[in-house]
Amino acid sequence: MMAEKTLDNLFHDTLKDIYYAERKILKALPKMARGAQSPELKAAFELHRDETEGQIERLQQVFELIGKRPQGKTCPAIDGILEEGEEILEEFKGEPALDAGLAAAAQAVEHYEISRYGTLKRWAQNLGLKDAVALLDATLQEETKTDKSLSGLADKVANVKAKKAA
Ligand code: FE
Ligand code: FE
Ligand code: FE
Repeated sequence: MMAEKTLDNLFHDTLKDIYYAERKILKALPKMARGAQSPELKAAFELHRDETEGQIERLQQVFELIGKRPQGKTCPAIDGILEEGEEILEEFKGEPALDAGLAAAAQAVEHYEISRYGTLKRWAQNLGLKDAVALLDATLQEETKTDKSLSGLADKVANVKAKKAA
């Protein structure tokens, strides 16, 4: 009989999911920064690229805490979300609405991450992994802060740039 899959298996699987996602996001953010027209949006993407490096390191620490080697597992959700971002880059290149589209695409990424880190933090609590809770919470706060600042920028770029053509 196969071993039962318990919450620690689920925690490990989901950790691999977000580890894969973060590494894809790390590669996507410079492209989004290059594409953004507003200097502020560009700077926000560059800042979050640097933060993402730290988030990957935190995940590596969580793997270590559960005695596993850091390993990713394909996340079709983030692949799809990032693909939509690429579409915006291609289809709205040079257009007034480009930045509004990029900010929205980036927020979709943050929302996926907030969902994952929220779940992982709760499961770490359930599993009594205190140090992992602190690491996951630090990243959750960073993703939430990023989402909020993107909301502010989204309003700005939508109001200034996207309407210019009207
Ligand atoms: Fe992240
Ligand atoms: Fe996923
Ligand atoms: Fe993020």
